[in-house]
Order: sequence, then structure tokens, then C-alpha cells
Amino acid sequence: MAAGIITGTELSAETETALERAVASHRHEALFSERAHNIKQSAVRDVFDISIRPGLVSLAGGSPSLTGLPLDLVAQTASKVITEHGMEALHYGGGKGTEELRALICEIMAEEGILGASPEDVVVTTGSQSAQDIAAKVFCNPGDVVLVEDPTYVGALNTFEAYQVQVEAVRMDGNGLIPEDLEARIAELEAAGKTIKLLYTIPSFNNPSGITMAAERRQRVVDIAREHNILVLEDNPYGMLRFDGKPLAPLRADNPDDVIYCGSFSKIFSPGVRLGWALVPRHLYRRFYLAAEAVVLCPSTLTQLIVTEFFRRFDWRAYLAESRAVYAQRCEAMLSALAAEFPAEATWTTPDGGFFVWVTLPEGIDTYPLLHEAIDAGVVFIPGAAFTSSDEPSNRLRLAFSGVAPEQIREGVKRLAPVVRRAVEQ
Ligand code: PMP
Repeated sequence: MAAGIITGTELSAETETALERAVASHRHEALFSERAHNIKQSAVRDVFDISIRPGLVSLAGGSPSLTGLPLDLVAQTASKVITEHGMEALHYGGGKGTEELRALICEIMAEEGILGASPEDVVVTTGSQSAQDIAAKVFCNPGDVVLVEDPTYVGALNTFEAYQVQVEAVRMDGNGLIPEDLEARIAELEAAGKTIKLLYTIPSFNNPSGITMAAERRQRVVDIAREHNILVLEDNPYGMLRFDGKPLAPLRADNPDDVIYCGSFSKIFSPGVRLGWALVPRHLYRRFYLAAEAVVLCPSTLTQLIVTEFFRRFDWRAYLAESRAVYAQRCEAMLSALAAEFPAEATWTTPDGGFFVWVTLPEGIDTYPLLHEAIDAGVVFIPGAAFTSSDEPSNRLRLAFSGVAPEQIREGVKRLAPVVRRAVEQ
């Protein structure tokens, strides 16, 4: 007992519990796997906790706008599913996900240019996040290399690092990942005797930069990966949210054997249902879904039934068209506020879709300490350093326009502008 450590002293029950916990923590520290030491709290989640404080404008989290969803229809659907499916709705299901949902997923993917995908090649996952985790688990040994875009999604970085892989960044320009840089990085790493397993890319409306890989680069990128026997892990949660025109065909569209494609219901419907999917090359499918089963047994039966039924009853194509208009308007509000408020030394991306604008300040400014000043000014953003695997400070910051109404976006940018101006003038 911890109380026994300090004999003859009366301790409150609370102190006693805290002491016991400290002793247990000390004993168990040595038991953590090396992997566990690599698991970090995501900077986005850190800021998320701050950003829900009343009065703050959050340009931090990339939350979808759910305001256009007919909540009554969602509620009716949930009730119908439970009434009609009874106990089946509350039971375990198959590890790949229900056949009906996998068929619906193929219809959704057809809308964005993946034609003729078979439900047999789909694994329903707990969000796209878990599809990335499964891919890392199935393919990566400690020390293997995963190539990522610079910058890239912080959640994927955390996943890869937890598997003790060496994450190597490939540069992007305004047209996405640069094929020549990809070739150069691969050559260097191969010359150093490294095994490169995956190329993780968010080709449409990259999180955090909002940049889209140009159509003419897409095949080249897959070809380079194929030549070096590297699998492409394509993460496309925002692909359907292009403001104007049809979505660009995903890398997977013409490359069924070389690309694992990850999709998600989080941005097109609701992140709370925690449903995403992987479309897996047939020859890799068995191991992929066995690994998925080993983690979750099966994806949530209840939310799969609700989502399938809801999408069958609801004009989701019309809803997506409305969502695109909402995001386009919010993006425009952010871009015009930046143009009006930010100093001339700052530059930013102009996304064609998705949730984010990526701001670059002059070299030498570290945006991390600016976050504290921004919080004092009543606004939050995510500092750019979160989106790279290096420990270098970053002069960039991510602003999310997706979950905030236009007036709030303008107010947030207005609050942030003096913080940025002070940093630029220093
Ligand atoms: N990939 C990217 C690029 C994302 O931005 C996100 C969420 N922000 C995810 C994956 C995780 O999505 P999900 O909710 O489907 O797990």
C-alpha cells in the first residue's frame, strides 16, 4: 500500500490514491512497448480541447458542417433500422462490413470516378483513420520507409510513427506531389539500402494544404511507385467536395492492382458514425481484412445499418451538391478575409475543394508560439509543424473554414491578423 511508504503519517484518501497510482505508474513504465513510446497526442486533438472554449473562434479542427443534414430523417432512420432489424442491429456482423453498405460504397466511389469496383474488394473500417492503421500494420516492419507528402495529415503521421516506420517527406508544389522529387527521394533511400513500402498521398484537397495533385501528374506518380514496387495508399476523404465541376479521377481509378484506396463517411455524412472503407487490390484483400477483424472484429453493425438505410432514403447526391456550395462559400469568406486583413508578406493556397487553407509567413517565423497569442486574441489555428515528421519549426499554419459560418470566419481572421502582423514586423 502506498500509505505504508510514509509511516506514521495520516494521509487523505485522495492523496493515498494518488500515491498508489504513482507507484503503479513507476512499476509499469518499463512494460510499455517501444511502439507505445512513439504514440503521440495529435496537435489537432490538443488544440481541439482548447477550441471548444466559449468565445473562441476555431479555425483549427477540420469539422464538417452538419447543419444541412435533416436530423429528423436521421432519427427516423435510426428508429426504423432498430425496429425492422431488431436484435440483428445490435449484434456482431461480418468483418468486411455488410454487403449492402459495401455495395453503396461502390456507388459512391463510382461518382468520383472509380468505376466497376466490386463490393468483394471493400473492407468497411472504423473511419479512414483505421484503414491507414491496418495498412501500416499489414505492410510495415519497424524501420521500413513510408513516403508522405510534405505537408501531410497529422493523424496518418501518428499512425505510421506508432508502427516505428521511417517517415520520409516528398515535396509538393501548387500541383501536388512533385514526381521528380518522388524519384529523387526513392533513389536516395534505395541507395541507402532502405525498404520503401508505402506512398501515402491525399491527392485531392490535401490536409493541411488544400492542394490538389494535377490530373496529368496522377498516373506518373503511380507509375513511379509501381516501378519501385511501392504500394500507393490513397486517402481521399475530401474528393467529393470539389467546389466546381466533377471530382478528379482518383489514382485508384485506372490502377486497381497498385493502389489501396481509403474513403470515409466522415466528411460526406457524419464523423460520429465512424465509418470509412478501404478498396483493396484483390491479391491483398485477405490479409487486409483479417488484420481489420483482428482489431475490431467487425465494424459497428448499428451505424452501418443506419448509414445504408439513410443513403437509400435520402438524395445524397443533392445533399453533396449543397455541401459543396456551403464549403465553397466558407472558403471564399476565408480567402477574402485573408486578402483584406493579412499583411502582404503572408501568402496562402487557394483550394478547389475540401476544408483547408494553408498560410505561409516569411521564413524564420515559428507559428507555434503564435498560437498562444492567437488564443489570447480569441482564435485558434493549427501550427504547420504538426503536419511534418521533422522537428523543425514551421512558418506555416493551417486554417480550417469547413465547420465555421462565414461571419465567424471573418471574425476569426480579423482576430488573427494583428498576431500575424506583429510576428512579421518583429
Ligand atoms: N484522412 C484525412 C486526410 C483526414 O483529414 C481525416 C480526418 N480529418 C482522416 C483521414 C480521418 O477520417 P475518418 O474520420 O474517416 O477516420
